[in-house]
Parts: sequence; C-alpha cells; structure tokens
Amino acid sequence: MTDRDLLFERQQRTAIALVAVFGLFDICSRLPSLQAFAQGIPSPASEVNWQQLAAPLIAGIQSVSEPKLAASLTGSASAKPAAVAPAPIFSAPQRFQGQIVDRAQLSGDEKVIALTFDDGPWEQTPEILGILKEMDVKATFFWVGKNVQTYPEIAKQVVAAGHAIGNHTWDHPTNSMDRETAAKQIDSTNDYIFETTGVRTALFRPPGGALLNGLADYARNRQDAVVLWSVDTRDWQASTSVQMLVSTVLNEAKPGGIVLMHDGGGNRWRTVEALPAIIAGLRELGYRFVTVPELLEMQEKEIIAAEAKAAQAAAAESQPALPPQ
Ligand SMILES: [Zn+2]
Repeated sequence: MTDRDLLFERQQRTAIALVAVFGLFDICSRLPSLQAFAQGIPSPASEVNWQQLAAPLIAGIQSVSEPKLAASLTGSASAKPAAVAPAPIFSAPQRFQGQIVDRAQLSGDEKVIALTFDDGPWEQTPEILGILKEMDVKATFFWVGKNVQTYPEIAKQVVAAGHAIGNHTWDHPTNSMDRETAAKQIDSTNDYIFETTGVRTALFRPPGGALLNGLADYARNRQDAVVLWSVDTRDWQASTSVQMLVSTVLNEAKPGGIVLMHDGGGNRWRTVEALPAIIAGLRELGYRFVTVPELLEMQEKEIIAAEAKAAQAAAAESQPALPPQ
C-alpha cells in the first residue's frame, strides 16, 4: 500500500469511528439510563451498556493512531467534535495507480463498458444526466477545473446522481509544460472538485490524450490512474453526424471498453441526440454499463482470481508424487 492509501484508509476509519461515536451520543441523549451516565450519574445499567458499547469503538479510535483525537473523544461524553464525513474517492485499484489504461482486459464473457464524458461541466450536462438517469446508466465524467468553477451547481448534480469523477486539468492545455505548471493544472482542479462537490479523484485524463507534455507524467507520479479510451466517437467534430456517432460506438464496442464522448467544451447537441441510441444499441448487444473505477475493479478481481489459481496449481505440482502401491 502507498502512503496515500494508508492515509485514505486512516481517514475513512477515523470518520467511521466518529460517526459511530456520534450515534452513541445520540443514543445517550435518548435513553435515560445512558443519559445518566453521560451526566456522570452512575447507574448499573448505564455502566454496562456504556462499557459494552464503547469498548470496540475506543479500540477502533485508538487503532487509527490519533491519540489526541481518541483522548478528546473518550475523555468527555459532552464534548462533541465537528462531524467529519468521509470524502468519496474515485480511484483505481493499486496495480493501476501510476499506470496508463485505455480499457480493462477482461477474460470472461461479461459484456461491460464504460461511457465517459469530457470537458464539462457544461450547459448541456443536465441533458446528458437526464438521459443517463432515465436509462439507468452510471458514467464517468472527466472535468475541466475552470468549468467546475463556472458551473458548480451542475457539478454537484453529477456527483449527486452517483457518477464517477475524474480530473481533466484546469483549462485543458495540450502544450508541453514544466512540472510546476503540470502540478498546478492537476492539483488545483482536484482541490476545486473537492471544495465544490466533496469528492476526491485519483483518475486523470490528459487533454487530447497527450502523454508526453508533462501532465501524464505528473499524474502518474502522484499515483493517479491515467485513463485513455478504446472508442473515440469524435463527437466534438462538426463533421461527425449523430448517426456516425452511434455507429462508431456500436461497431467498436468491446467488453471492457472505454468510450470517449464530450458533454462540455462546445455545443454537444450531437452527443445528446446520439446518447439514447448508443445506450439502447449497446444494451441490445448485451452490454452492461459501469464506471471506470468499477471496470478496473473487475479486472483487478480477475487478476487476483487468476493469481490464486496459478498459486494453487503450483502448490499441487510441488507435492511429492505418492509412491506406487
Ligand atoms: Zn478534453
């Protein structure tokens, strides 16, 4: 596990412990016997309940190595620290962190595919959201930071609808840049996404799919998964008709694929018009829709299962043959 993984895990565990403790305080305020304990009035029933309920919580809090926090929480039942909600993070399994992916390599027959939308949020994003909701599809949106700044309410709608979020830089540069500029492009966008919507992302898509201008290197160094695509609809080009857009996706779809479309950066009426036919057509071909993190999680599970199978086979081979009877 990387330090960042450990930190996230630690933060999540702290948040879970806090939520559990608040739940307990809430019970304290409702149940007279527990309330008596909270007020320092000993009562046999409250002591038993408190100890039984609190022991695993205190152990959990202490195990997250936050001695000050644990002390403040266990020291006084009347002090209520500010609530900390765990920030959802959209990330790839560890083996894909710092890597470039353009699809999931799935061995099974399961037909899954990820629809992705770049360059938003934008005026037309709510139309896309409406279609996705109507057709019960979860997608992945790669956001441009300055567009999140322009359309914060639309950004919140995307998150509230349960779609996955990735970083697509602050203002979509494609030129070469130094490390400091790349850091600004990516970090400021991540920070702004978090401040606006409360989610974090460790998925990065470089504008134009450019891998050599400094952005992808910076993202890989910070252990983001660099997410490209396996189907390019070219929906941003005026020469791409709605029909072409639909047929490109249906012809090029493969299990584990990632489809590139755009909800922002210009008038995306073609994408809006094509989307229902794309979804219906893929369903007819047997596809199910997942987000990019879900897609990579599926590949991860397959790799783990294959590794376990290989280890089992190796162990069986190393067993000495039984002597002939
Ligand atoms: Zn883009």
